[in-house]
Amino acid sequence: MFRKTLAIAILALAATLGCGQSPAGIYFCPMHPEVEQGQPGKCPKCGMDLTLKEAAS
Ligand SMILES: [Zn+2]
Repeated sequence: MFRKTLAIAILALAATLGCGQSPAGIYFCPMHPEVEQGQPGKCPKCGMDLTLKEAAS
């Protein structure tokens, strides 16, 4: 029982440490500055990858 809990904790820690690749911050489309969201993704208008505007610290 304990071992299973430990494994889950390690997986969660690994995801937090970078395997997840989801840095916090504001992302916007270079072509459409009004398009902003809180995670990486694509612009719904032109499909370009969103660019990191400012890192949330
Ligand atoms: Zn766009």
